[in-house]
Amino acid sequence: KDEVNIISGALELRKKTVSDVMTKLEDVFMLPISSVLDFETMSEIVKSGYSRIPVYEGTRGNIVTVLFIKDLAFVDPDDNTPLRTLCQYYQNPCNFVFEDVTLDVMFKQFKEGHKGHMAFVHRINNEGEGDPFYETMGLVTLEDVIEEMIQAEIVDE
Ligand code: ADP
Repeated sequence: KDEVNIISGALELRKKTVSDVMTKLEDVFMLPISSVLDFETMSEIVKSGYSRIPVYEGTRGNIVTVLFIKDLAFVDPDDNTPLRTLCQYYQNPCNFVFEDVTLDVMFKQFKEGHKGHMAFVHRINNEGEGDPFYETMGLVTLEDVIEEMIQAEIVDE
């Protein structure tokens, strides 16, 4: 029965972490901040189908902001607007969580809503010789948590 599944899914949230359900960094559709919002780039963004696009500077692990699709509403592709200009205008913050945060805690945080429904998953990497550093592992959204709760895939339109 659906109800039994949802209840056991809800109980399981305490046992799973964001790293179990995240979209891995290598699979994330993102843009370098040096991009130019020309026709080609804007078509690619629309084609990706995502409503939020992480923006990185230098390496993909260095996420500096998020571009919302709605931020593109007033952008004319003929203007060749630098992505950096748009990012500086909106300054959308990004929310980071540690990879071992459990899904019940993540769900509560998403529900409270003040940081949006997407978070980047990171960890402290202290392997190797150098100083420890934050390593970005992927991203998790409210949809990933809800799928775990109802134990089914949500088919996006
Ligand atoms: P959207 O609103 O863009 O459809 P959702 O929050 O519904 O995003 O998430 C749907 C799935 O897509 C989730 O598994 C989430 O981890 C993943 N996702 C969200 N944004 C991106 C992105 N920019 N690149 C890759 N995967 C993403």
